[in-house]
Order: sequence, then C-alpha cells, then structure tokens
Amino acid sequence: MDAQPTQAPGARADEREPAWHSLAADDIFQRLETRTEGLSTDEAARRRARFGPNALPEAASRHPLLRFLAQFNNTLIYFLLVSAVAAGVLGHQIDAAVIIAVVLINAIVGFAQEGKAEKALGAIRKMIAPHAAVWRDGTRTSLPVAELVPGDVVLVEAGDRVPADIRLVRARGLLVDEAMLTGESVSAQKHEAPVARDAPLGDRVSMAFSGTLVAAGQGRGVVVATGGRTEIGRISHLIESVEQMTTPLLRQMNRFGRRFTWVAFGGALLVFAFAVFVRDHDWTEALIAVVALAVGAIPEGLPAVITITLAIGVQRMARRNAIIRRLPAVETLGATSVICSDKTGTLTRNEMTARRIVTAGYTLLASGSGYDPAGTLTTAGGDDVVALDAAGPLLRCALLCNDAHLKPQGGGHVVNGDPMEGALVALAMKAGLDAEHVRAEWPRSDEIPFDAQYRYMASRHTAANGTTMVFVKGAPERVLAMCAYEATASGDAPLDIDQWTREIALAAAEGERILGFAALPTGAACERLTQADVEHGLTFLGLVGFIDPPRAEVIQAIAECHSAGIAVKMITGDHAATASAIAAQLGLADAGRVVVGAEIDATPDDQLTALAEATSVFARTSPEHKLRIVRALQADGAIVAMTGDGVNDAPALKQADVGIAMGRKGTEAAKEASEMVLLDENFVSIVAAVHEGRTVYDNIRKVISWTLPTNGGEVLTVVTAILLGFTMPMAAAQILWINLITSVTLGLALAFEPPEPDVMRRQPRPAAAPLLSPFLVWRILLVSVLFAAGGLAIFFFALGKGLPLDTARTMVVNAIVVFEISYLFSVRYLHMTSFTIRGLFGTPAVLAALVVVVLAQFAFTYLPLMQALFQTRPVALVDGLVIIGAGVALMVILEIEKAILRRTRLFGPDEP
Ligand code: ADP
Ligand code: MG
Repeated sequence: MDAQPTQAPGARADEREPAWHSLAADDIFQRLETRTEGLSTDEAARRRARFGPNALPEAASRHPLLRFLAQFNNTLIYFLLVSAVAAGVLGHQIDAAVIIAVVLINAIVGFAQEGKAEKALGAIRKMIAPHAAVWRDGTRTSLPVAELVPGDVVLVEAGDRVPADIRLVRARGLLVDEAMLTGESVSAQKHEAPVARDAPLGDRVSMAFSGTLVAAGQGRGVVVATGGRTEIGRISHLIESVEQMTTPLLRQMNRFGRRFTWVAFGGALLVFAFAVFVRDHDWTEALIAVVALAVGAIPEGLPAVITITLAIGVQRMARRNAIIRRLPAVETLGATSVICSDKTGTLTRNEMTARRIVTAGYTLLASGSGYDPAGTLTTAGGDDVVALDAAGPLLRCALLCNDAHLKPQGGGHVVNGDPMEGALVALAMKAGLDAEHVRAEWPRSDEIPFDAQYRYMASRHTAANGTTMVFVKGAPERVLAMCAYEATASGDAPLDIDQWTREIALAAAEGERILGFAALPTGAACERLTQADVEHGLTFLGLVGFIDPPRAEVIQAIAECHSAGIAVKMITGDHAATASAIAAQLGLADAGRVVVGAEIDATPDDQLTALAEATSVFARTSPEHKLRIVRALQADGAIVAMTGDGVNDAPALKQADVGIAMGRKGTEAAKEASEMVLLDENFVSIVAAVHEGRTVYDNIRKVISWTLPTNGGEVLTVVTAILLGFTMPMAAAQILWINLITSVTLGLALAFEPPEPDVMRRQPRPAAAPLLSPFLVWRILLVSVLFAAGGLAIFFFALGKGLPLDTARTMVVNAIVVFEISYLFSVRYLHMTSFTIRGLFGTPAVLAALVVVVLAQFAFTYLPLMQALFQTRPVALVDGLVIIGAGVALMVILEIEKAILRRTRLFGPDEP
C-alpha cells in the first residue's frame, strides 16, 4: 500500500532533495542545470548568493570573558591571589592592592597579546585554505573550497579532501577513505554507476562526500550539496575549534612553574620561621615580607611572554613563506639537524624546458626557452627533416599522454598543469604540431594517472578512423622494462636496451630530467585500462630530456645549512645521474655517492642509519623510502625536517619532526600530515624558517635567562638581610612594586629581539635540552649574588652617609631596577658582547620598555602620592649617579663573565 519511496538512511524526512546517488549522470546534469564544462561565473555567483558559502559554521570562539578568566588558571597566580588575601587580612591593604595589580596587569597583557596572537594565527591559517579544481566558464581553474556551489563540476585526485558532496560522473581507480563518515577503515572503491535508492551511506559508491579523503585515483563529479547541507554538515555542525596554543617548552615551563611554587612556598616558610624565631621580628611584619618575597620569586609573567614569543615567530615565518600549522614546530625547527628535500621545484625552479629528443637513430636538440612554443628542432648532422619525421610518433604520444595546457600570458606562456607536461606541449608545438588539433583528433577514453609509486602514466585514445592506441610516458627504465620493441624508420625492431641505457646516462650526466615514451596498438576501447594491460609488449618511441635549472639562491642556503651544522639530503624520484648532476651544481655532492631506492630496499633497518647519514643524494626513491630514511635518521637522534607533496608522502611527513608540505602542488593529505606549509615551495624558505625557529628559541631562552635571575636577585637581597640580621633593605610593598613594573615591560621586550648574527653559525641545539641548563643555573646564582651584593652595598652606602632609612630603601629599589635594566642589555646577546652600537641602542621594544620603567621609577621616587603609598623619599642627583654607576659596573662584570665563558666553553660550545 505504501507508495512512498523508501527514505534513504541519513536523509531528513522533510527533505525534498533527490537521492542523487541513484540517479543517472545525465539526470544529475539536468536537475542541477549544469554541463560537463561547468557553470558560468555569473550563474555560480547567483547560486552562491542563494546557497551561501560552502563551509561549515565555525565553532564560536571562546567568550572573551572566559578567555580573560583563563589567564588566572595557573598555580602561580593562585599563589599570588592567596597572598593578596593574606596581606588584606593582616591589614596590609597597600600590599594586597599591589599584588592584585600585579595579577591584573599580567592577565590583561596576557589576554591582549593572546587575542592578537590568535587573530594573527587565524589570518595565517587562511593563507593555506584548501582549493578545489573546478570547471567554470568551460575552463579548469582552482578556487577556494568555500566558493563551490551546487552544480559545479569538480575534479578530485589522490590526496584531496573531497570539497563538497559530489555525484561522480567519472571515476578512475578512485579510492576514498570515508572513515570519518562511516567508520569504515577500508577505503571505498568509487564508480559512476547509480546505486539503489535505499543504499546506506557506505554503499553509495557513486558519491564522494565532503571532507572524506581521496586515497588514490581520480574522479570528476557534480556538486550536489554544499556547506551545512552535506552529509558531514548534518552530523557535525561545527568545525573543530582552534588548536590549543601549547608546545613542549610551554608545558615544561608550566610544570616548572608548579614545582617552583612549592619550592618558593617551602623556602618562604623557612625564612618566615627564621625571622620570627631566630631574629625575633614581629610575626605579621615577617609574614608580609615573606609573602612579598615569594611573589617576587614567582615568574608569573613567563608563560604569557613565551606564548607571545612563539606567536611572533609564527608571524615572522609567515612573512618568509613558511606557514606553521602546529605551534610546536616553531621550537622543533630551531633544533632541526637534517633537512630532507625534494629536488624538483624545491631545489630546482620547476621551470622545465625540453632540450633533447632521442629516437632510434636520431638526436634532436630544441632551441628556445621557457614554455614559449617558439624555437626550432635541429640535429647535429643537418638531417632535420628526416629526424623530425622520425620523432612524429613520440611527439604525438607526448601530447596525448599529457594533461597540461599552455596559456599565453603577458607575452610569454604559462602552464596549466604539470610543468614537465607543459614543456612537452611546447616541444610538440616547436615541431609544428597543433596541440589542440591533435588532442581533438584522438579523444581519450581512459587513463592510468601518474603515481610516484610506479612512475609512469598511461592513456588510451581512439582516432576517428577507429584506431585505438595506448600511450605511456614515465621514468625511462620503467618504460623500457615494459617494452619489447622499439620504433625505427623501417618499423618495429627488437628493443636494444643497452643502447638506450647509454643514451639515458649521457643526458642524465648533464642534469637533464628524462622521460621515456612508448605506445601499444590495442583493440577494445570499452574496458577499463589496467596496469596489467600496459606493462608488457610495448613499443619504445624514444626519450625526451628536460632541463630544470637549480635555484641560484639555494646554493647559498645549502652553504648556510652546512655552517649551521644542518645536513641537507636530496631525496628524489628522479634518475641517479640527473640527481647527482643537480646536486653537484648545488654544492651538495661533497658526500659523493648517490644511493638509489633499490639499494635502500636491500638494506636492513639496522644498517640503514649509517647509510642514510653518509648519503646526501637519494634517487629513484618512492614515498616508502622517505619514511624509512626519516626513521633511520631519527634512530640516531637526528631532528628531521622532510618535504613532501603527494598522498603517499603523508606517512613520512607525519613521522618527520617537521613535516613540510608544498603550498601549491601539495595535496591536502600532505598538508594535513605536516607541521609547516611552504607557500613558495622554495628550499630557501625552509632555511629561513629554521633561522626564525632558532631565533625564537634564543629569545625564549633570553626571556627565561632574564626573568629567573632578576627574580632571584630581588629575593636574595632581602633574604640575606634577614639571615644576617640587618634592617630590611626594602619594604614588602616595594618588592611588589618592582615586580609590578618590570615583569611585563622588560621581560616582554626580549620577545621582540632580532636574531643574533651568529644564529646560523652554531650547531643545532640538542632537542632534549632541559629548561634549567647548567648555564642557566649558574647565571641565576651569579646574578642573584651580584644583585644582592650591589643592593646591600647601596643600602649601607646610604645609611653610612647618614640618610634616613626610607631614603636608603628607595635607593635600593631604584638600584635593583637599574640592575634589571643592565642585565637586560647583557642578556640581549647571549652569544656575543653587548658592547656594540647595536647592543647599546636596542630594539624599539627595548627602548619602549625602558621609557616606561624609567618614568615609573621617577614617579615612584618623586611623586608625593607614591611617596605616601610606598614610603619612598626623593633621591639626590649624586646618589642617583652612584646607582647608575653600580648598574654600569654590573654590566661590565657580566661582559667579563661572558668573555670568559666564551673562551673556556665551560658550558659546552652552544651555551655562551
Ligand atoms: P621528483 O623527486 O623529481 O619530484 P617524482 O617522484 O615526481 O620525482 O618523479 C619521478 C619520476 O617519475 C620522474 O623522474 C619522471 O621520470 C617520472 N614522472 C614524473 N612526473 C611524471 C608524469 N607526469 N608523467 C610521467 N612520468 C612522470
Ligand atoms: Mg615530483
């Protein structure tokens, strides 16, 4: 009785949308009012207005109030708040107020800077928003995924995230990983044929769903649903919220902070007991002083400043075309000890020009440059016409087994597609062929797309006269292995592999990238083309050699890596001789031997480490080799950065400490597996990112090396006085004041430091270096002692001159602040002297912090209100000069220490 068609599971009852998966392809085009050539731009704009952007609504970002409150969620801050309450209860309202001010200022700075950092990171993330290949106005273009509308015709390839729900109208070896939607871990094989109307989601093989990952093959389809109307949009209405801003170093810092709080607490108790029971101080006075000391010791601003430093690093890297996807990479980059790079496009320009054609009997050289089809083909022997004739079948194969198009642009030509294929189109045009005409004559019925795994591509074409041919192009040894014959002027002859191998060696030795071409006449054009069909009995047509010049700036960058103790390794799918020639041009060949993929296969894991370390050029590798090389290098403690672009590179990119995906030719799968995306695909940008990574780490170290010792100095000054039974050299409120005024000004300024000149002349830092290195412990001790000695010397100098206690204390506070400024200038250069012009003037951040602190100190010392609040007294000019003199003396002592440490290398070569 029930005439209603069964509702497909997952479809909403109120929905009147057709069951796209069960409709025939023609029906789809008709209902969505679209064509194979795609929508027009105007129509797409209309639909965009109607359907909205193809994006899931973003998760609302955390409420600002919550973000602000989160600033207080920190053991150090809890301690401060408890201290404030304690001070208030004891009747020390001013101290309580200053502690609250410290906490508030810290939270406000943290909140503001974090907001700024999040916004900047969001903007940077947008620079790598995914694109989709889509037909508009009859041509294939690449558009941001958000621009897609129902009716758009899109292409998906291995490594893509499916950009919307699409009904496939053509699928070639298409495997889609739908685990996120169906929970099915095996990739689904997709086809064009309609499926039953009531098929469950996992069986709708004629559909590819938004957000799922294409594991292999190619497909073309029509967008049927976008944004929130897609299957994924129905189950989750929100995009994953923004990644947490945390890194190993920040976690280490927080752990340190927690532990330190307890140490400070324990220390404070001891000092308190000592003051009350041994020195007979009044217990409320002692308690408040001890609370102030604990507050002074606690580096409450440190986590915020480190976050800010990281965020600045991310922005600096983005300016140099390196987009950080995961924050910890900023730190890891600075520790990178090996960079494994692709050759084509990263080390070379990926601007291919076909330079030679070798057929059985003739070698033709092409003139001209770039992708301009202007140029001539000549032989050394002057038999150009015959030779060109002989090259005819090869050139036809090169045009047909090819997905690239040349577009005239600004006087020259640009490639739409693979640069090497573009170069082949230009080559065929130089030989007088009309690319579009040949392609129209031989429409393609099927293909096997290129894959770095098997290194060839095949396509099948049928001419108007009914002849059907399969054309193959690929790595020449690979293609030769599939051939039984070679084409000669007098018809097919048995293949002379040795002769071809010599020709390949000849061209490769000049750094040429070489492709082999082959053809196979075939009967049935209706069946699927499989690898088994094309891998034997082919006729070899010849070779084409391409030049792809190395990037000139890479030579310098590789030299820089070497001076920075970073090994550079080229890992390419290209021929060994080609790789070797390019490596020599780049100054990378010093290690000599090239290792090929087969040799890696033959090497067991336990021996691979030695081989991988000794080799700088790997050729004829496939993506699994990359994974094994990364693992082998890591086994010996190397921190490896590795580039990649294809879907098969994802495991190696994940395994690498810093996976680097290519911005333009990189697949979505590669990008998602990576820590970093290179917008310009240039090796130089990797080195620039390492440079920035080292700078960030240096700056974090400077921030820590400034904060902990100055806190220590402040505290030791007072503790010494208590232990030795002197009058307190600073009042509790005054200690708190120092904290209030310096921690977010002077400490923060170090986050903006430019790199020191020698950043790329040092060895990479050991990855597992602890936060509290022996050097830092030494610095904390030394600076604390110097501060205490200086502070107490000033104190007794003042008292000795007969100045009142309050004046002496005001001078001590000023002295401590001056010392902090001196030490700031010293710490700005961990690895060299600060006594340089650049060192004395400082960055705008340093100068701004300086101005704020100096003004605050003047107010503190001379403003009546402040004098009432903090019991300060004006300081005379001469006494002020004495304080400044003490500051200068401190700086000189620290410079001497630096010089001695540099000479003796007491803390290893990398600690100053
Ligand atoms: P690379 O490391 O230089 O980027 P690939 O893995 O991209 O190397 O390519 C490896 C080899 O596969 C190349 O040397 C070439 O012989 C062959 N090849 C590359 N692209 C194509 C293509 N589009 N069609 C056919 N063969 C190709
Ligand atoms: Mg490649």
